[in-house]
Amino acid sequence: MAGVKTFSYTVTATLAHFADLSASEQELVYAALNARRNAQAPYSHYFVGAAVRSNKGTLHTGCNVERCSYTQTTHAEQNAIDNMIAHWGPSKIETIAIVGGPASATPAPNLNPLITTLTHPEEATLPCGHCRQIIWENCFGDHNVTILSLTPHGDILRATIRDFLPMCFGPDQLGIDYANRSATVI
Ligand SMILES: [Zn+2]
Repeated sequence: MAGVKTFSYTVTATLAHFADLSASEQELVYAALNARRNAQAPYSHYFVGAAVRSNKGTLHTGCNVERCSYTQTTHAEQNAIDNMIAHWGPSKIETIAIVGGPASATPAPNLNPLITTLTHPEEATLPCGHCRQIIWENCFGDHNVTILSLTPHGDILRATIRDFLPMCFGPDQLGIDYANRSATVI
């Protein structure tokens, strides 16, 4: 059709065994699991933990924190990223791990190298749209920042922020560069 141009994007997600992760990535998943135990989720009863590796190599965690007003609920990914920023100022995410499940569940890595199970990618703990935007804002324009999600079977879904958030809106559109502290510190 004249005047019509179609853009297509490929979403790639990889199912990995926990043992296939690097030591740093494994540490991130365990940190997210530990943070999840502290979730304050009396309304949804859905406990989420997240752990961020900053570009300085440090690890920062967060859990979901629900309030009775609901709209003031903090998501785990946001909590972890904000902890990173509270520590370093505006900083770049290298990798983020996300784990979640009902309060009664005890998600854990699958350490059996013979079994890797996932029927649908969406079975993994995926960041909501709100959090995808929050993650992207601290990727400093790097579309290849890694997101690791634990599946109910204890395996790992690996994808990039590009896969989760194609055609994204970020600081670039406003001419802002978080990496330049002089742009954010007055
Ligand atoms: Zn979220």
